[in-house]
Amino acid sequence: MDLKYGGYKGKILRINLTTKKTSILEITDEFARKYLGGNGFSARLLFDMIDPRIDAFDPTNVIAIMTGPMQGIYIPTSGKYHMASKSPLTNGYFDSISGGHIGAEIKYAGYDGILITGRADKPVYIFIDDNNIEFKSAEKLWGRLTSETQEMIKEEIGDPKLCVSAIGPAGENRVRYACVITEFRAAGRGGLGAVMGSKNLKAVAVRGSGTNEPADSEALENWMNWYKEEVKKVPALASGLPTYGTPILVSSINNIFGGFGTRNHQTEYFEGWEGLCAETLKNKYWDKDTACPACPIACSKLFSVKEGKWKGAISEGPDYETIYSFGSMCGISDISLVIKADSMCDEYGLDTVSCGVVIAFMMECYEKGLITKEETGGMEFKFGNDDIVIESIEKIAKRIGIGDLMAEGTLRASKIIGGNSERFAIQVKGLEIPGHSARALRGMALGYAVASRGGSHHDPRPTGEYAGASDRKAIEGKAAWVIGTMRWTTIGDSMIICHFLERLLGYTLNQRYVDMINPVTGFGYTYEELVDVAERILDLERAFNVRTGIRRKDDTLPRRFLEEPIASGPSKGMYTDEATLNKMIDEFYELKGWDKRTGIPTKEKLIRIGLEDVALELEKL
Ligand code: SF4
Repeated sequence: MDLKYGGYKGKILRINLTTKKTSILEITDEFARKYLGGNGFSARLLFDMIDPRIDAFDPTNVIAIMTGPMQGIYIPTSGKYHMASKSPLTNGYFDSISGGHIGAEIKYAGYDGILITGRADKPVYIFIDDNNIEFKSAEKLWGRLTSETQEMIKEEIGDPKLCVSAIGPAGENRVRYACVITEFRAAGRGGLGAVMGSKNLKAVAVRGSGTNEPADSEALENWMNWYKEEVKKVPALASGLPTYGTPILVSSINNIFGGFGTRNHQTEYFEGWEGLCAETLKNKYWDKDTACPACPIACSKLFSVKEGKWKGAISEGPDYETIYSFGSMCGISDISLVIKADSMCDEYGLDTVSCGVVIAFMMECYEKGLITKEETGGMEFKFGNDDIVIESIEKIAKRIGIGDLMAEGTLRASKIIGGNSERFAIQVKGLEIPGHSARALRGMALGYAVASRGGSHHDPRPTGEYAGASDRKAIEGKAAWVIGTMRWTTIGDSMIICHFLERLLGYTLNQRYVDMINPVTGFGYTYEELVDVAERILDLERAFNVRTGIRRKDDTLPRRFLEEPIASGPSKGMYTDEATLNKMIDEFYELKGWDKRTGIPTKEKLIRIGLEDVALELEKL
């Protein structure tokens, strides 16, 4: 059923891996307008479908693979897709967007998204070819790396251009931060790959023969023309990211903002930053620029190591976050090691942020005597030990020896290690914190604490604080700022565009986003209506989490960040103490319409944004 609005097919494909049956869920115009697509569709449907009490590896857990209205229309930076599920790492709602043409192919096949539940009795992959859906044996693919898995499926189907999203050994072994890889891009962080592995689902391959059409082609062309002119005026999008990619952040975050987490955040200034910076990477290791489909910015690069210890390593990346996690966090200043680690994570299907932060956590525990050489199986987890990084990645992906503990993530590992090790677990709600400082950026302190996903820099965004659009040291007004950034990211993840567009369209939700959405959909949204869409999605995520037991007490930061000032560098002395964080959280809850005592969205708020049924559900708790 095509909708009256542009950018939608009106159908979501439901797949049950236990029964091998498929069905169609029809969506309405009202549903599309209310939830937009991508993250909005997932948040609504997963709230309705998932029993919050289940373990994430229960067969009844659901994986959503969604598109937004823009996929397949060749709008700049929209060559992406969205995945969501209940996370085995945070136990809450978790979503991720990833580059990949598979989003467009899902649309071309006639669907707005796919919902997968159940568990196959043997490893399978799903092949979707318009209306033809096949469950194919993946027994010979099980144990394979992500690149060979994708190649073998293309060969079996006889289509070298087939879009395949696959897991590697990490997903099969249910590493709690395993991701899903499409080409070399990851739907990362919260363990979506592990959920696929728990379902015996090795990959999803999609091709379609249709199109996706905007509501108003002429208005969209006008918008595209505006984009082409305006993007040239934004240095980060016109030259910084195209030339260097996100590694360009290393120098400024270390030397200006003093927020480059070092040796597991014992400080946030890394003396070996030059070995990790964008210029070193570009001058010594760059092979060519690459990009997500339909992206003229092309921030990603192919790098290879031509000599030295890690000679032969090739990777599309590393990005800034990976340089932080395997570089400064582990006390390593050799970028060639980071390239090697990045390529291994892509192949095993591991999230690079969590993986590096887990290794850094082990290094601190080891150096503080909380874990011994006997317990690590002889591995010497010392900061700067690059061999340990490489050995750890393989052991984590395969859950061998100490890797089995590390595969659980820092929070669970700290509970097993005991002592005061939880202090060194750099995570929020179980999700390891990326390379944007909770101590040097006040907005990230609040944002990490209250975000649905926990330690994610794609719920709140750090970019506006780096740019000075919000004073990074200010407390006043920070709650409103964080809400604005979260509204933008949730809308961005629902229409599914790259977050880097914020440098052109704005760091917080504003009229420019309305102007981008309306030509595609024909919704004729006002700004106020789009704010309500954002709030609806964000509060559905919170409601999902509330049903899993998350409350105000969980909206916090690691003790280290609340009690230890940054030890050195440009932000020496900065941190947000617990009382200050609580003050900001109070203000955040008040502006959001959440109960200050519990952190639960109030009935009045939920009714106001059209979520009466959710209010009734929460009343039952
Ligand atoms: S800017 Fe980079 S991450 Fe964003 S869509 Fe383009 S290539 Fe992908």
